Amino acid sequence: MTEPLLHLALRVEQDIFLVRQRGREVAAAVGLEHQDQVRIATALSEVARELLSGADGADVTFALDRDAVGRRILQVDLSPLRPLPGGRYEPKSGAVARLVDTLQVVAVEGDTVVRMSRRVPDHAEELTPERAGRLRAELAERAPGSALDELAAQNSQLIAALDEVRSQRDELAVLNSELQETNRGVMALYNQLTEELEETNRGVVALYAELEEKSAQLRAASESKSRFLANVSHELRAPVTAIIGLARLLADSASDPLTGEQARQVGLIRSSAGDLLGLVNELLDLAKAESGRIEPDWSEVDLRAVFGQLRGTLRALTVRSDVELVVEEPPAPATLRSDEVLLAQVLRNLLHNGLKFTERGEVRLRAERRGEQWTLSVTDTGVGIPSELHERVFEEFYQVPGTTRVGGTGLGLPYARRLVTLLGGTLELTSETGQGSTFTVVLPAGGA
Ligand code: ADP
Repeated sequence: MTEPLLHLALRVEQDIFLVRQRGREVAAAVGLEHQDQVRIATALSEVARELLSGADGADVTFALDRDAVGRRILQVDLSPLRPLPGGRYEPKSGAVARLVDTLQVVAVEGDTVVRMSRRVPDHAEELTPERAGRLRAELAERAPGSALDELAAQNSQLIAALDEVRSQRDELAVLNSELQETNRGVMALYNQLTEELEETNRGVVALYAELEEKSAQLRAASESKSRFLANVSHELRAPVTAIIGLARLLADSASDPLTGEQARQVGLIRSSAGDLLGLVNELLDLAKAESGRIEPDWSEVDLRAVFGQLRGTLRALTVRSDVELVVEEPPAPATLRSDEVLLAQVLRNLLHNGLKFTERGEVRLRAERRGEQWTLSVTDTGVGIPSELHERVFEEFYQVPGTTRVGGTGLGLPYARRLVTLLGGTLELTSETGQGSTFTVVLPAGGA
């Protein structure tokens, strides 16, 4: 609802000052802030000046109203005395429109009216009808000041505006220098980070070089170990074979007869030399596998034939009547691309271990085809292997403590794993102490 506050007539030059002065007073009375009072007063005096020259003057009405969303606004209507050319009005300076929230030409009861408005801050006191009445009376009573008074007021407003501009400029300068300072800080941080990054990079590069060197050294050490093993075992084989041969000759019935004690000692020499030859042969095999000198002889292998052969040769090893060797029949078609000799060697090794470390129960070999892979497993019901040693048993010469009395060298499993790798597969172990063990060979059906 519109609440009219004050009417003024704009007829002569003098009235422009009056409109401006009263405009500021009304603005102050309804609660506009100082800056806004000056703004609306300035806009008003500009429009008043233009209407005085273009339309011989106007009737000016100040009123309190609400905008479309219900907020309070101070609204000033200037109805020109003569119709505006084309019913339109455009202030000469575009800056005038920016001093207020709205400045437009509206039709009021058939007349065109220039209307401007400025929002009243929310915290301004509500204008009750009583207060509006009081305000109206006050404004009507107030004696209009002279043009000189208004000039003085304008002057002081100008000085205040200048002061504000200066303090804003100072503030800007402070902000600017703070920004520069921050910028310098950021740059310093950036440089420091870059340096640290470069430093870290250099460290990483050095570390890599060191790693490279160490792994080259390791490779060289491993190669020389294999070479050493190969040479030593090769050199040992000849004399050991000679000892065995000579011992056999000594024990031969065609030779001079030996006393019982001598025959026993020669027997010991033969069996010790036999063990030694076994060890030397295993060392040689391993050294060969490690140095990559074993080339698998690829062919179509029939697993049933391999299993049948193992069943036959290993039966002789099942000395304990409490242990049964079970070689299951592989499911047909039981063929894969592999090296028959190497594969048989691996399985024999695993079955031999199973028989060695099983007191009662069974040692079972079974084959299973899963997609493009064959899984060959050797399961026993023997002593088992503690889980923390599952990888160690694949190290050369490692034997689980307490199992050495059954003989062996600790070379069988590392050799078996080498061969399986050569055949393009894997050899894994699952076992628990006292629960038996399962060694699983997984091989690609199509070869490596
Ligand atoms: P070796 O049998 O000649 O000692 P291996 O490399 O074949 O050497 O085996 C290493 C060790 O792993 C064995 O000494 C034994 O302690 C353990 N081991 C291997 N197979 C089995 C098994 N089936 N059950 C229990 N322990 C085993």
